[in-house]
This record gives sequence, structure tokens and C-alpha cells, in this order.
Amino acid sequence: MSATIIDGKAFAADVRGRVAEQVGRLNDAHGITPGLAVVLVGEDPASQVYVRNKGKQTVETGMNSYEHKLPAETGEAELLALIERLNADPEVHGILVQLPLPDHMDSDLVINAIDPAKDVDGFHISNVGLLATGQKAMVPCTPLGCLMMLRAHHGNLSGLNAVVVGRSNIVGKPMAQLLLRDSCTVTIAHSRTRDLAEVCRGADILVAAVGRPEMIPGDWVKPGATVIDVGINRIERDGKRKLVGDVEFVGANRIAGAITPVPGGVGPMTIACLLANTLTACCRANGLPEPQ
Ligand code: NDP
Repeated sequence: MSATIIDGKAFAADVRGRVAEQVGRLNDAHGITPGLAVVLVGEDPASQVYVRNKGKQTVETGMNSYEHKLPAETGEAELLALIERLNADPEVHGILVQLPLPDHMDSDLVINAIDPAKDVDGFHISNVGLLATGQKAMVPCTPLGCLMMLRAHHGNLSGLNAVVVGRSNIVGKPMAQLLLRDSCTVTIAHSRTRDLAEVCRGADILVAAVGRPEMIPGDWVKPGATVIDVGINRIERDGKRKLVGDVEFVGANRIAGAITPVPGGVGPMTIACLLANTLTACCRANGLPEPQ
């Protein structure tokens, strides 16, 4: 028997559809159009693709997209001045600074310069603190997308054992916070974890956010578990370029109850959640009820 495939593409299309509908209503009723500003410094090819896709999907949902592309040698002070202008711009409801930034910039300083209310990536220290203390926060897009798929699949997550492999600030830690908020019993594993295989085998929900191609084999998966594979790894196999996750899909698919594929799982949900966060930020900024 094979696992249920959690179709992130279909989920994401559904989220984008709902966002587009709500943006239309916001416009009709209040004459407001949400705006998302994306700042890209340098020419990292993967970042350029992400930024292009974000801009395209922002416009497709009826929102305004403002792209700011700066050369790699831009000074930190110039970037901070741009963020200040965007913070003050009432047409801009969400600000995203594409990471990674060039080495000569202090990413923490830059991210913490964004108005927390416009921090649609949820990386500002205020939003991190709000999430950790169970208050209303801007939630990082990738973990939010994972949570939406998990809730849709399981209904209630309460009491389930969740293992998150990876402890980055952008995926692992906020994912663990969200699962804790939904009353899972959460374990965060990382490169120093002892007997990772055994830790993973105890997981009803296994989230892999490591960045190592197929490092989690099928026999680390508890029978019937739900596997969320965040990893995006570019490899070459049989002379062809391929995207694979952090989980060995064929093996895990035989044992898991449900699994996200790579590509087509978590990836598409990330941008969809960014659009949803921008809409939320716009509603909050205008004192309007938040979209559900
Ligand atoms: P980071 O490199 O920031 O973090 C990786 C984490 O994995 C670290 O906590 C590290 O542990 C842990 N790790 C590394 N090796 C091992 C190991 N052998 N055993 C156990 N844990 C290990 O990565 P990100 O969190 O930014 O991204 C993770 C993956 O998710 C990447 O493939 C990335 O491309 C993908 N990604 C996908 C997104 C999407 O939209 N689908 C969005 C963001 C990321 P330690 O802290 O001890 O070093």
C-alpha cells in the first residue's frame, strides 16, 4: 500500500483562490488594494526565480507588487534607507527582503529594521517572540503552509508526537512552535541529535527541514505517519538534473500514511502563504476583520 499524497500544488491553488476572492471584496467594499514589496539584493539565480514567481503570483491575486532590485555591492545603509521608506509607505502592506543577503550585510539588522506589522515573512524578532508566547504574530510562510496541510489532513493535531528535523530560524524552530501551539508533543532534532533514526520512528508527524538529499530513509518512518518534506535539493541522477527532498520518497511512501512530494508539496504553499500574510497585514493595517 502506498501513502496518501498531500498535493501542495492543489492546496496552494486553493489558498491563492481564496486570497484573490478576498482581495476583490476588499477592493470593492473599501477601495483598498494590498501591496507587497519584495527587495532583492544581488544576482543569486535561485533568489531571482523566487522573486519573479512571487511578483507574478502577487499580481495574479489582484494585489500590487513592488520589486526593488539592488546591485550586490549596495551598502547596508542604502538598504536600510529603502526599508525605512517602505515602512512609511501606506500603499505597502507587506515587505519581504529576499535571503540570503550578500556577506557584507547583517541579515538580522536588516530584517529587524522592517516594521513588524509589515514583516510578512515573520522573521522579525517581535514576530518570533509573539509566536513563541502564543500571541497574534506574522507566521513564517513555509511552516505556516506545512501546518495548513497537516490540519487539513488530520483535523485535530492535539496529542500527536511531532518530530521536526532541522532547527533553523526560518523553518525548523517556527514549525516546532506552530505544532506546539496545536498541542503536539514536539521534538526538535538537529545535526547533534543522537540516534536520529529512533527519534524519527516515534513520530506521528515527521517534518524534514534539513537540506540533505534523501537523508531520511523509509525505515525511519513510523507506519502510518504523516511526512512533511520541506527539503529542496538539486541533484544529478542518471545524467539528469532533479529536485529531491530530504526524505527518500519511494521508501517512505510505502510506510507513511501520508506524504508531501518534492516538487509539488511544501514548495508551492510557501508563496501562497506569503500572499495570505500580505492580505492579513493589509486588513490589520486598515482595522478590518482578518481573513479566516
Ligand atoms: P538550514 O541549513 O538553515 O538548517 C538545516 C538544519 O538541518 C540545521 O538545523 C541542521 O542542524 C540540520 N541538519 C543538518 N544536517 C543534519 C543531519 N545530518 N542530521 C540532522 N539534522 C541535520 O536550512 P533551512 O532550514 O533554511 O532549509 C532546510 C531545507 O528546506 C533546505 O533544503 C531548503 O532548501 C528547504 N526550504 C524549502 C522551502 C520551501 O519553500 N519548500 C523554504 C525554505 C527552505 P544544526 O543546526 O545542528 O546545524
